[in-house]
Amino acid sequence: MQTGYSNSLSENKANILLIYTGGTIGMRQDPATSALVPFKFEEILHEVPELKKIVHTIDTYSFEPPVDSSDIEPSKWSQMAQLIKERYLSYDGFVILHGTDTMSYSASALSFMLENLEKPVVFTGSQLPVGMLRTDGKENLISAIEIAASRDNHGRAIVPEVCIFFESELYRGNRTTKDNAENFKAFRSPNYPPLAKAGIHIKYNKPYINYPGLWGKELKILTETNNNIAILKLFPGITENTVESICNIPGLRALIIETYGSGNATTRQWFLDIIEKTCNKGIVILNVTQCPAGKVDMDAYETGIMLKKAGVVGGYDSTVEAAVSKLFFLMGHYSDIKIIKKLLNQNLKGEISIN
Ligand code: ASP
Repeated sequence: MQTGYSNSLSENKANILLIYTGGTIGMRQDPATSALVPFKFEEILHEVPELKKIVHTIDTYSFEPPVDSSDIEPSKWSQMAQLIKERYLSYDGFVILHGTDTMSYSASALSFMLENLEKPVVFTGSQLPVGMLRTDGKENLISAIEIAASRDNHGRAIVPEVCIFFESELYRGNRTTKDNAENFKAFRSPNYPPLAKAGIHIKYNKPYINYPGLWGKELKILTETNNNIAILKLFPGITENTVESICNIPGLRALIIETYGSGNATTRQWFLDIIEKTCNKGIVILNVTQCPAGKVDMDAYETGIMLKKAGVVGGYDSTVEAAVSKLFFLMGHYSDIKIIKKLLNQNLKGEISIN
């Protein structure tokens, strides 16, 4: 569907593709059940007449049917990547409207799938539907479009990354986590500063934005995934039976363990034996901390050193969302466990801080 809101007077006019995947921003209350259900994308645009004042040309594309982001799966990430690839040369930037619940997973996944990205891909959504009086959706949408359109004097994107814009801040997508189901400020980036802040002006934090070493490379998409992973969240009193069952899931190829503090786990012998046996079977185990901020350092305590000796890989300051999508991506493209482990220890798309 093409809407083409534009104003030909501006020299800085950009071409933006607005992709609607679903989520609260495009929902309304079903009078029968009071539950929020998606409505037609064209109606969202009618709800935001302000878009007509935007100088950029905005074309739109809607997923059919739009999905609540709880139903997002790797095939939808491929669909988004494929669409961006097909339309890449026609647009200066992309805005993806997406439910907030799994937005951090999708933004992380896209960051790995889009290789040589030189244009902004800005995810946004809202906590209240765009048709409601107090909606946060309009401000999020309009600022996301401005960011996706922003270019420097050479015509290069100011933020050539996969990002999330929400409630006046722009974050690197693979650094985010949804941490509030109530506030308009629903996301945070615990281990990496915002890439921009929107006030009267949009101020970019350029030293923290990733720029291509060499501009002009062709965009490639790497959309293979393998989702045979599990997450084991530790808690005091976890039983051997629970750990054993998770590590023996048929077909399991990788396991994220959510550990305590800087990557620590119980030193009970049964636990270490299961972890070691699982590593020896060729299953990748990645250690990510349960702490919302800070990083895994398996050399800091005896409890971490034991995990390292057993063959566990440290996840640095990765969010769980970035860890899940990085594993999906790596396992989809490599079968050699040594390569997967090596790449887990590398900062591929700004998702971890190595030092
Ligand atoms: N359940 C919705 C979704 O993630 C919530 C939202 O959009 O904020 O699709």
